[in-house]
Amino acid sequence: MRPRVALENIHPYQPPRMDWEMAADRGSKEYVKLTMNELSFGPLPEAKAAAAEALSRGNLYPQRDAEPLREVISASNPGCTPANVVVGNGSSEVLVDLLQILERPGEVIFPWPSFPFYSSTTRVVGLDERRVALDERHVVDLDALYEAVGPTTRAVILCNPNNPTGTYLPLERVRSFAEALPEEVLLILDEAYYEFVEDPAYAGSHGLVLESANVVSTRTFSKVHGLAGLRIGYGIAPEGLADYVWRAHVPFSVSLVAQAAAEASMRRTEAIAERVRYITEERERLQSAFDEAALEYVPSHTNFILVRTGPEVFEKTGVLVREGEALGYPGWSRISLGSKAENDRIIAALS
Ligand SMILES: *Cc1c(COP(=O)(O)O)cnc(C)c1O
Repeated sequence: MRPRVALENIHPYQPPRMDWEMAADRGSKEYVKLTMNELSFGPLPEAKAAAAEALSRGNLYPQRDAEPLREVISASNPGCTPANVVVGNGSSEVLVDLLQILERPGEVIFPWPSFPFYSSTTRVVGLDERRVALDERHVVDLDALYEAVGPTTRAVILCNPNNPTGTYLPLERVRSFAEALPEEVLLILDEAYYEFVEDPAYAGSHGLVLESANVVSTRTFSKVHGLAGLRIGYGIAPEGLADYVWRAHVPFSVSLVAQAAAEASMRRTEAIAERVRYITEERERLQSAFDEAALEYVPSHTNFILVRTGPEVFEKTGVLVREGEALGYPGWSRISLGSKAENDRIIAALS
């Protein structure tokens, strides 16, 4: 066999160190894992019940295009119809489907540091990458992104809020950027942390999607819905674009169980809002503790915080955090917000 040369410099995804590995290294001490921005709560009870019910139909293929789920998603994004909604095995798959529909050769532009998957998947699907540095406040630099757009640019990926910094851009700034972008360039808004942003000037990208032919937003059930292990995400796209995504999509990639759980979870808007309030409070509590300890951090609008100190500081109290080194922030750590007791251990590590 003759593998593509483009794959030479790509490595399989390296997960952060796991709690059980650390526990094995350090004897009996119990570690908590706050490395992957997972939610500390499980799926909502209604999502678990729906998943359990779906199991008994496991002999059947799932709904190929997830029609009932797409109904619920479009209903919570005013103006959208199911024809504007695509689904995937995680929003990661939606992203891959989007990149698959672009003309080759070509280039994909994204801010950096950002989600490392943008880099690997761009190259795997045969496109070139171009990274654009964040500004000095760790925020996506829209002017620099725009400057980088050229005749071979096929897409711009804007991670909003940005992982690993937790910073966001309000909708009006995204809209101006989208309007200035040539229509041949696809604008992908990765909104994995959409629900966590409390500023009313942020929400509503589906409105922008509906006004355009080349803007898509991707969101996920992996974060606030607590369904990361079931692998399901979605995109909101203009109809013509959604049609192309379905052409590239692997049929039945989203399991019956995941579709059922996601649909039930999406209907529980008040329970989801309650989780967001919890995360917001805990984020403020931790950020105050960092202030008191005179520890530099990037004020966050997500369920994680980037702080300027090494991961070993938190190992003292048995907390594993993501080493900034792996994220383009050497000397920093990205801490996912956990349960109250887990977050207390983060605070205890500061003294
Ligand atoms: C967690 C995360 C996702 C979610 O990926 P899934 O495939 O939906 O689990 C997407 N983008 C970013 C930036 C993330 O941090």
